[in-house]
Amino acid sequence: MSAVTSAVGRSRVSARIGGISESATLAVDAKAKALKAAGRPVIGFAAGEPDFPTPEPIVQAAIAAASDPKNHRYTPAAGLPELRDVIAAKTRRDSGYDVQASQVIVTNGGKQAVYQAFATLLDPGDEVLLPAPYWTTYPEAITLAGGVPVPVMTDESTNYLATVEQLEAARTPRTKALLHCSPSNPTGSVYPREQVEAIGRWAVENGVWVVADEIYEHLVYDGAKAESMPVVVPELADTCVIVNGVAKTYAMTGWRVGWMISPADVTKAAANLQSHLTSNVCNIAQRAAINALSGPLDAVHEMRTAFDRRRKTIVEMLSSIPGVDVPTPQGAFYVYPSVKGLLGKEIRGKKAETSLDLASIVLEEAEVAVVPGEAFGTPGYFRLSYALSDTDLVAGVDRMSDLLREAL
Ligand code: PMP
Repeated sequence: MSAVTSAVGRSRVSARIGGISESATLAVDAKAKALKAAGRPVIGFAAGEPDFPTPEPIVQAAIAAASDPKNHRYTPAAGLPELRDVIAAKTRRDSGYDVQASQVIVTNGGKQAVYQAFATLLDPGDEVLLPAPYWTTYPEAITLAGGVPVPVMTDESTNYLATVEQLEAARTPRTKALLHCSPSNPTGSVYPREQVEAIGRWAVENGVWVVADEIYEHLVYDGAKAESMPVVVPELADTCVIVNGVAKTYAMTGWRVGWMISPADVTKAAANLQSHLTSNVCNIAQRAAINALSGPLDAVHEMRTAFDRRRKTIVEMLSSIPGVDVPTPQGAFYVYPSVKGLLGKEIRGKKAETSLDLASIVLEEAEVAVVPGEAFGTPGYFRLSYALSDTDLVAGVDRMSDLLREAL
């Protein structure tokens, strides 16, 4: 009997779950951790989270909530009514999207909102257009829901922005939805208003739903603005799901509070799903989120100033490395340089055929962790997060730069 089959010849792990691929980030991440554990001074550019602590008033709200017995019980699966109100008000304030609290479901992070949006929208075989490079969770969430991710390839020549022409070329009778993420993880690109409008109109005309991930909405630079697609194209409201959360704006990645906003029928169906899946998000985290979302945006503005400074530094430093081509991102806290100019070369006797190889060499030889483009559907690139201290940022890029200059 094979180890992977049971006595009756069935797979031990279902095909559905067995089909979830291991994240390409894991290989590098596991190595980075092993090196660190062995005492090596690894500098990490791989983390997708702010390096700041959660602002103190938010933490205090959680401490008070923990001592209040009303938070020790089950609460409505779709979220605390007060938080759903605050999210609707915050959405009107920040993006101008006029939504009702009844359209909001509070989820365990934006990640659960992504899963639930696709689980609720997709039937088996439904296709989802997915501009690449894409955040590594999207294709898995689509596939798990029975859908088919259809990558729409973009590159640095267009700042990684997909055009209506590209989307139209990828559309088929099975196209159910488009995933739109701006500012983007992994590229930091921000779609300008005209392009958001053109894509939104195309989606309405062709009956394509839009799942719009707005989690980096407040992290924009150089005067760029994160435009909310259903605000720019109001006719889209009936076929649009917004995904958002407190993680990136308030340095609250560990608190696990996100949300989805959708039309009434989708909200009802997704709330039914959530009622059997996770029930309510931790009440203490929800109370902290109420404090965060009803308070000022001062803390995110401070973080943004720091990120902006680091963004300029990292772009300037990376641009000077031969073989590295880096567009200037206008959002989030990532840069996404092409390293294609270094592929096929040898560094310290090791050949870098792919960006995955090159990331391994950079980790082993320069003790710097970056995520290779393979993780985001576009080999030939690196993703670097600049959510780390200015000193580490400069030291890390210096080390990588010295190494890459040895490429033969
Ligand atoms: N969307 C994007 C584009 C992200 O980068 C992330 C976090 N990496 C999320 C959603 C989910 O964030 P969380 O689950 O922590 O709220």
